[in-house]
Amino acid sequence: MNLAAVYALLYSALLGTAPNVVLLSVDTLRADFLGCYGCPYPTSPHVDRLAAESLVFDDAVCEVPLTAPSMSSMLASRYPRMIGMTRNGLRLPAGIQTVAQEFQNAGYFTFCVQSNWTLKTKLSHIDRGFDVYDDHFHQKRWGILKGERSADEVTRIALECLRDRPPEKPFFAWIHYSDPHAPYEFHKQFAPANKPRLFMKRTETVRRKYASEVAFTDAQIGLLLDVLLSDREGTEAASPDKSGESGESDGSDGSDGSDGSGGSDGSGGSDGSDGSGRGYPLRERGDPAGRRRDNLVILFVADHGESLYEHDYLGHGRRIYHHEMRIPFMVYAPGIAPGRTGVPVRGVDVGSTLLGLAGLQPLPGMLGVNVIADPPPAGRVRVVETYGGAVPKLPGARKRMAAAPPQFQGVIADGWKLICDGASPELYYLPEDPGELDNRATAETRRVSGMKALIERWDRETRRGASEEAALTEDDLRALEALGYVE
Ligand SMILES: [Zn+2]
Repeated sequence: MNLAAVYALLYSALLGTAPNVVLLSVDTLRADFLGCYGCPYPTSPHVDRLAAESLVFDDAVCEVPLTAPSMSSMLASRYPRMIGMTRNGLRLPAGIQTVAQEFQNAGYFTFCVQSNWTLKTKLSHIDRGFDVYDDHFHQKRWGILKGERSADEVTRIALECLRDRPPEKPFFAWIHYSDPHAPYEFHKQFAPANKPRLFMKRTETVRRKYASEVAFTDAQIGLLLDVLLSDREGTEAASPDKSGESGESDGSDGSDGSDGSGGSDGSGGSDGSDGSGRGYPLRERGDPAGRRRDNLVILFVADHGESLYEHDYLGHGRRIYHHEMRIPFMVYAPGIAPGRTGVPVRGVDVGSTLLGLAGLQPLPGMLGVNVIADPPPAGRVRVVETYGGAVPKLPGARKRMAAAPPQFQGVIADGWKLICDGASPELYYLPEDPGELDNRATAETRRVSGMKALIERWDRETRRGASEEAALTEDDLRALEALGYVE
């Protein structure tokens, strides 16, 4: 029996009963726009409160910076290329099992509240294993079809699902918010800066809009968390002492503040680990000792980040710099001490960790690790890639593109990141250069060859699965167009 299996047994014995498990994901959410990851704006008081009670991972990356590829890699715990989901508009093949199916098989009630068009059932087939997969949104704004559902509606439906769930079963919920995805809508009640817009540079205006989308989403997540965490049930678990692994990062990737958009009042710059005086209502009201009474697991994550004009690019999907690849990743669970850790984690770990936290075994073929029971070593090699963000209009062209090689590949190991771009590779040392501005490829030719070899090896070992193309209607194309995906 391996360590993870022993852990799973011990963990389920500790819990006594199966925990409720929530995968809480936000589309296009850069880690560094959350207070708990060093954002200077007060964007995320509610996620920060969750972070203060969670184990926060400072070094997490997605597999491919696109919604359907990334989320399917998390739920199937396999690399997007292996399941043929390298782009949006490609479906999860029938033979691939997901964690939702495993939860369902284990007697869980499973539900998902969806908000991104690319994750609709007919486009992604990612609904498998869910008793309820609510992707019924079809909104028009100013005559344009919206590709996303807004956060207030996501929270409302999620709360309805929680209220109406069968009480005799534990539940697995995947709740996905999409507001930070383009097009950015400005929420003036969540304005991060007071400077008049007239005096703002283009980058400032975009960052301000994006930050207000994050803050709007956070407020809605707060309403959901209030219910989830006031509904705490089950046995008393360990006290949240502050003995988690100490932070290897100061929570900042250094990419903020360079555009002078400031305006912070300083209240959002938490490191996410103090937790003082910021407990949830139940803890304040009914449990002043701060002891954990819940039987609830929450894994908070984003599917990818967003480039906000860094490297002269706005969006995601077409590059693999860290603004797009780095994601927030935190685990709130009974017996898990809050804190921070710098162990290197990745998208495929989400599925294995969710199952492990419920005392369930990983499914055959799953490649991720349970990051709690089996933390990856500091030298873990992580290959990431992207196949381009656009979905072509014509079915024939879509088929050809599904089989095309990656546009970019990169590898991250021991703090170094190599991005392969044909004849001109880029090499960065992330601990000193998180914004990826100082390309050291010319000075470090041996390191470049060594890291290229790591990618080649991964390529050999990680075979590509066949892609299954979704048939797109006019509405699908218009919604994808609104999200910036159609070419
Ligand atoms: Zn996305």
